[in-house]
Amino acid sequence: MSRQPPSSSDREISAIRKYPLLLHRYVRLLEVSTDLASTLKLETLLQHIVEAAMELTDSEAASLLLYDPQAHQLYFEAATNDLVDQLGRTAVPAEDSIAGWVFTNREPLVVQDALRDSRFFREVDVLTRFSTSSVMGVPLRTKDKTLGVIEAVNKLNGTFDQEDVRLLQALAAQAAVAIENTRLFQQSDLIAEMVHEFRTPLAALTAASHLLQRPDLPDDQRDKLSVTVQNEVQRLNEMSTDFLELARLESGRIRFVREPVHLGGLVGECLEIVRPQAEADHITIEPDIDSSLPPVQGDRNRLKQVVLNLLSNAIKYNHREGKIVVRLSREGEEFMLAVRDTGRGIPPESLPHLFERFYRVPDQEGHVGGTGLGLAIVKRILESQQGQVSVESEVGKGTTFTVRLPASVGSAMETRPVS
Ligand code: ADP
Repeated sequence: MSRQPPSSSDREISAIRKYPLLLHRYVRLLEVSTDLASTLKLETLLQHIVEAAMELTDSEAASLLLYDPQAHQLYFEAATNDLVDQLGRTAVPAEDSIAGWVFTNREPLVVQDALRDSRFFREVDVLTRFSTSSVMGVPLRTKDKTLGVIEAVNKLNGTFDQEDVRLLQALAAQAAVAIENTRLFQQSDLIAEMVHEFRTPLAALTAASHLLQRPDLPDDQRDKLSVTVQNEVQRLNEMSTDFLELARLESGRIRFVREPVHLGGLVGECLEIVRPQAEADHITIEPDIDSSLPPVQGDRNRLKQVVLNLLSNAIKYNHREGKIVVRLSREGEEFMLAVRDTGRGIPPESLPHLFERFYRVPDQEGHVGGTGLGLAIVKRILESQQGQVSVESEVGKGTTFTVRLPASVGSAMETRPVS
């Protein structure tokens, strides 16, 4: 018996047969959307999104990449398998990857045979020992921007079709809104924290201004109070500046430049800036700088901010007539800048909190002025430059902050310059 091509009524019957399955998938999509809208922790949210993407498209795995405007890169942020655990926060090249194509073109893409597609970013399979055959990617778009990409990998039965694309797009639309909401929530958290932190200096100012109005106030008290007013106003000023800086860094609104930076020269400049502050406290600074180091690629002004912050802390939290050693060296593939002081040191229980915003070591708070934002800013800046900062300290002996920056640039996994 010869096979007849399917008639239009055959096609209709087959479409009708698919309805219960489709209906089931859209009902799941509705359930998932409600769940996404109520999740406010970004990490949990992203995990729920990839699990829903895998389930709804009947795939072996799914992953999610978010665009980092500071680094101009797409990063794997969540996956249903252990891809993210294995790779860490890996950048995917915008030019030579399926996710990059989807992100740049802001359109879905189905690749049935990834190995034959020149855009497929093979390194991920190599590094994770996963074997990708088919991939479907859709952009995570809000009204005015593209946040990243969701990818479903290896369709379990058959091939990815238009229905899968439509479903994943519908999920992506919900997911993008939920991601934006979570980010806004985190920002409002930041604002609430700032208002809370502003209360202490404002309370001190209110009390001082009331007391200053009293005609019977002795002169020495009046002088003390005006010093308090001056200090608290200065503190509020510094807090506003630092807070704005941190909020900008956290929201990704800062554009970093990439230029060759000679760290030796940069550190030298910073030492000149802080020297008067050190001399006032009779603190000696011993530079130990390898000036033969080649330049790093980075944002000079931001890196200067990092060095100045660490140096001024090493002075602020040092003893009179203390010492600071500033060492710049190369260790393998990294440049290392260590700022060691002979100050009061930091108790072990404070070390894990040091880079949190507004954190100050409790018993130091009253003695030395500060906002508790400097180190949070340092950490953020270094993350944007693919660097890191660590601290070692011994109470009564001193503290060493060590900055590490990658010495080499140019591999597929690293940032590209701002165009
Ligand atoms: P700030 O100095 O404005 O308070 P930072 O974020 O720069 O804020 O530092 C956070 C806290 O870490 C400081 O309040 C201080 O308690 C502690 N700290 C930072 N650097 C040092 C250092 N070199 N020695 C001792 N403690 C330090």
